[in-house]
Amino acid sequence: MAEVLEGFTYPGTVLAADVRVRCDLARDASNMVATPEGFVLLVPLPDERWLTFIGDLDDGELAHLARASPSEVVAAGIGRRITADVAVEDVGWATSFHMHQRVVPRLAQGRRFLLGDAGHLSSPFGGEGLNAGLHDAEDIAWKLALAARGRGRPALLESFEIERLAADHHVLEVSGRIDGLVRAAVQAARTGVPTSPATPAQRAALARSRCLLDVTYAGSPIVGEHLGPGVEPPPPPGPGDRFPGRTTLTGTEHYLLIFGTADAAGVERLHRRWRGLVDIVGGTGGPSASSSALLVRPDGHVGFRATPADAAGLAALDAFLDSYLVPVSI
Ligand SMILES: Cc1cc2nc3c(=O)[nH]c(=O)nc-3n(C[C@H](O)[C@H](O)[C@H](O)COP(=O)(O)OP(=O)(O)OC[C@H]3O[C@@H](n4cnc5c(N)ncnc54)[C@H](O)[C@@H]3O)c2cc1C
Repeated sequence: MAEVLEGFTYPGTVLAADVRVRCDLARDASNMVATPEGFVLLVPLPDERWLTFIGDLDDGELAHLARASPSEVVAAGIGRRITADVAVEDVGWATSFHMHQRVVPRLAQGRRFLLGDAGHLSSPFGGEGLNAGLHDAEDIAWKLALAARGRGRPALLESFEIERLAADHHVLEVSGRIDGLVRAAVQAARTGVPTSPATPAQRAALARSRCLLDVTYAGSPIVGEHLGPGVEPPPPPGPGDRFPGRTTLTGTEHYLLIFGTADAAGVERLHRRWRGLVDIVGGTGGPSASSSALLVRPDGHVGFRATPADAAGLAALDAFLDSYLVPVSI
């Protein structure tokens, strides 16, 4: 599997360093300093240290870098950009690097899967690269476990590429936007023309995107919904969305959460056919028009929503499960 990371390399060279700096910057968040000379991003580390990004290096700094170690360029780079009272006391390590926005066209081929930076590279300003790699792993782990137990149909493993390519493109888009904000701040410092500030709502939406909380697998072949005739979709989370209460569901199986009452025969059939794979929570009593059944996958995303949880809704859910899982042989 030889896949090419397609996309582009951001202009400019950046230094990354682990430094101890004497300064009065707040240590409960990252500090971005944009100046006409470029930017310095200081991200707090334990023991009064900071992960520091310095960029973009100009011709003089690149020439300095060519004849000196990166550590030697760090103090001068920070000093040029931050004129306030900041003293670099120690440089643990330093390296120069380029940022990329790249992704492979295929994340899977047969039994081989690409995870992490092998499949996608994003601007570190987004702070999403490692998290996206972990999400890749979270998506494939439960699918592999079920396939290895002989309980997964081909659609299960095939969904990895579809779901994660969409999510990884989201990471590239969001990190690209954040990268653009940093470059715009430097440009504003150079020209004296301020950028228009983001509204609190825009800032909150960007923070949510950056934390990957709005990643959805809607549109995946192993995500679906059944709505009874004339029924409007309930409020979020919808099919494919991250289920906010996932941490209260501590097992590794699917959970079927039934809100209100459900068709008892349908629930009983689901119990029998999906024993060991689907844990059913709630749903005693007869069917009700306002009930709903929410299938939460092992990775915490909503796999299916049936509204109401009547006989037709639960039958649709059963057929949906059968499209990618192997039921208990009865
Ligand atoms: C300066 C910087 C800051 C970042 N900050 C953040 C952040 O705040 N938040 C965030 O989420 N992400 C951040 N990232 C991105 C994050 O570091 C990466 O996305 C993450 O490390 C990728 O993990 P990975 O396991 O996929 O790849 P890697 O970390 O690159 O691990 C791959 C490993 O495989 C080894 N390897 C390669 N080839 C072979 C081979 N042939 N045989 C054996 N071993 C091999 C490599 O040596 C390496 O150890 C940052 C990146 C940079 C450069």
